[in-house]
Amino acid sequence: MRCQFCGNLKTRVLDSRPGKDNNHIRRRRQCVECDRRFTTFERLEENLPLVVKRDGRLEAFDRDKMLASVKQSCTKLPVAEGHLNRMVGLIESRIQESRRRKLRSQVLGDLVAAALLELHPAAYIRYSIVHRQIQDLQDLQKLLEEEFG
Ligand SMILES: [Zn+2]
Repeated sequence: MRCQFCGNLKTRVLDSRPGKDNNHIRRRRQCVECDRRFTTFERLEENLPLVVKRDGRLEAFDRDKMLASVKQSCTKLPVAEGHLNRMVGLIESRIQESRRRKLRSQVLGDLVAAALLELHPAAYIRYSIVHRQIQDLQDLQKLLEEEFG
C-alpha cells in the first residue's frame, strides 16, 4: 500500500477492522518513511472469511499477523523462512477454498498448530502455549499427552 503523502511503498498497519458491509476493511496505516498516518478502505480479498475472536469481535484475516506468530514460534529453530511463508500461504488458500464467511480464531489457531507440528515439535509447543492459553505445568502436560502420548 503506497503512502498517500510521500508515495513510499512500505507502511505499517496500526489497526484493522471490517467495514459495515463486511466486504471492505478499514485500515489505519502509518508510513515507515515519513511517519504520517492515513486510513484506507480496502476490499477484502475474495472469499477470505472474517475471523471471530474469542470475545466475539470480528477481524479481517491477517496473513502478516499469522506469519509473524509462526516466525516467533520458530525462533532459533532450523526452519527456513521461505518454508514458513509457504506454510501460511497454504493455510490461507485452505480457508479461502472453504468459502466460509466467518471462522473462529480457535479453528484458525488449530490449523496453524497442526502445520507447525509437522514442521518441528518445539514450534508446535511454543505456539500452543500462547494459542491455547496454557497457564501452568498441568495444562502443558495435558497438551503434550494429547499430542505425543
Ligand atoms: Zn510517507
